[in-house]
Amino acid sequence: MDGLRSLRADNAGPFTLDGTRTWILGRRRVAVIDPGPDVEDHVRAVVRSVAAADEVVIALTHGHPDHAGGVDALLAALRDRGDPGRPARGDGGVTVRVVGSGHAAARPLRAGDRVSTDAGQLVCIPTPGHTRDHVSYHHPDAGTLFAGDLVLGEGDTTWVAEYPGCVADYLGSLDRVQTLGLRTIHPTHGPVIHDPDATIERYRAHRIARIEAVRAVRVRQPDASFVEVYDEVYGEEVPGDVRAAAEASLRVLLHHVDTAPERG
Ligand SMILES: [Zn+2]
Repeated sequence: MDGLRSLRADNAGPFTLDGTRTWILGRRRVAVIDPGPDVEDHVRAVVRSVAAADEVVIALTHGHPDHAGGVDALLAALRDRGDPGRPARGDGGVTVRVVGSGHAAARPLRAGDRVSTDAGQLVCIPTPGHTRDHVSYHHPDAGTLFAGDLVLGEGDTTWVAEYPGCVADYLGSLDRVQTLGLRTIHPTHGPVIHDPDATIERYRAHRIARIEAVRAVRVRQPDASFVEVYDEVYGEEVPGDVRAAAEASLRVLLHHVDTAPERG
């Protein structure tokens, strides 16, 4: 894809895989999708990568620190180049805006709102579930989606545990994205996805399997304690360092099962 590049931050971990990938689209009119963590080397690399820009839109998928932590540092660095909010006047200045969700300075986007770059337009697709306000950016001409943490480049699961109702939201987001007819997905963590439909199906199947497992325990042992349900559903398959995350996931799964009588 012309005018698209990525920079990977040095913040590998169980949730970030090999680190946060910041996607940068365009040369003069540029979108920076998720600047990434507040890591000096990374922010500096992003600034270098937009050196030719006179208009930068920082487009956030959500506010988790590995995506939006570097916004303030990036704004400060770009401000040193010019006066944000004012048109560039050929003096090396740059106009900077923040859109999307998860930062105080961000102008919220609604479904269908566009971000223009000189490498094509991005269209906002609300994809709640990972967070309540998570959005993705669709590039219709390229048939791709910048998906934040909706799906990762590896595996079959992402963090869906942030708020009661997030499980239903998440499944709805997968449905919405599947109607776009994507050719690729650019996630924030892990490699580019070249089989979007199969990947979305895998993430859906994983979530539904968890829902069904929790529902089965509820039916079999209606009085089971949280710990008993946990042991039944997650058993020994969850390593100790992500136990807290698995417990949070179980809490929202229980909420989902106890409030949604239907399958799925
Ligand atoms: Zn996240």
